[in-house]
Amino acid sequence: MKCKPDYATLTVRPYQLLCIVCALGENDSAPSDPRLKELLEKIRSNPDLPIALRCNTADEFSYQAVGTQDDTGEGLEFNRKRDMDILLQLDLAPGSILPARIIFGRLLKAISSVSGICGYATVTSEAWHGCPRAKNGRYEKGHAKGINAIIPPRDTEEMKRDKDTSIKDMFASKAIKIRPHILLCAVAQYGGGTRPPFAADNLPEMIQHILKNPDTSITLVSGADWMMCGPCPSRVAQLNACVCGAIGSGGLYNEMKDLNVLQALGLTYGTTMNARALYKLIFERIPKTGGVCALDIRIAQLSVWCDSCGKNPAPCPDYEKGREMLMKEFAKA
Ligand code: SF4
Ligand code: SF4
Repeated sequence: MKCKPDYATLTVRPYQLLCIVCALGENDSAPSDPRLKELLEKIRSNPDLPIALRCNTADEFSYQAVGTQDDTGEGLEFNRKRDMDILLQLDLAPGSILPARIIFGRLLKAISSVSGICGYATVTSEAWHGCPRAKNGRYEKGHAKGINAIIPPRDTEEMKRDKDTSIKDMFASKAIKIRPHILLCAVAQYGGGTRPPFAADNLPEMIQHILKNPDTSITLVSGADWMMCGPCPSRVAQLNACVCGAIGSGGLYNEMKDLNVLQALGLTYGTTMNARALYKLIFERIPKTGGVCALDIRIAQLSVWCDSCGKNPAPCPDYEKGREMLMKEFAKA
């Protein structure tokens, strides 16, 4: 991984995120406001673009203030409060930088209505009249369309093509490349009865292949590598990244899972071992997934670390079942 001394961000006011959702409630394809249209086009062409959420706050966070040029016409105090109300709901500080996908994932989870944010039940004076569109239900309609209306999902035909090609590449390779923690997911899938063909990843095919050929070499790599993750709806090919999870932050916590697995096994990225020896080590060192690939989390739903596997106090019984089954299968092989 190369060091990035600096990186470009797209500056967005928090209210503009809501206005994009609101506009999509009004018009299925794109907002008519040119500034919002331009923002959405940039986000759609690069959904993992880092966005800096900047607003006009005083005191400690005044360093990131952006000026009032993008304020809407309802007045200075309303504009300030609306942005701060949104950041409060998102549990983000002014100036926070996150990939666009994760910001919208958080937004859709945290803000299902603009009531009390863009308009108030009681208008206390002209300065607090709020946005004229706050009560027309457009935001709520846009919200109901979900993340796919903002960031289109992967193309189904492309995923089918990638399934075929990545499987061929796996069978033709000298060593199957795989990120560490999904070696355990493959066990869980096996324990849960998943068998090829499986559309969303190549793990069931990999397990069947190594059961027949236990001396197959496996190389441990980082990221959502092509051979296993090629057809996955959550893979971003340009970044070799995984964007699974409730807010699209799976790449982050999946890397943590990978490192936990490497640490438990005493291995590093780049290690190549034969499949039987690797799984023997996994089964010896990792009898259960808790604290390893089911992260030990005590955190809020909006967190980028919120891993669904770690939420369950007794995670992944299918891993334990698959482990027992595969230990017997490898003993026969
Ligand atoms: S706990 Fe989650 S990451 Fe670990 S094997 Fe089960 S499904 Fe995979
Ligand atoms: S891209 Fe992510 S969710 Fe998909 S198979 Fe790879 S690690 Fe799993």
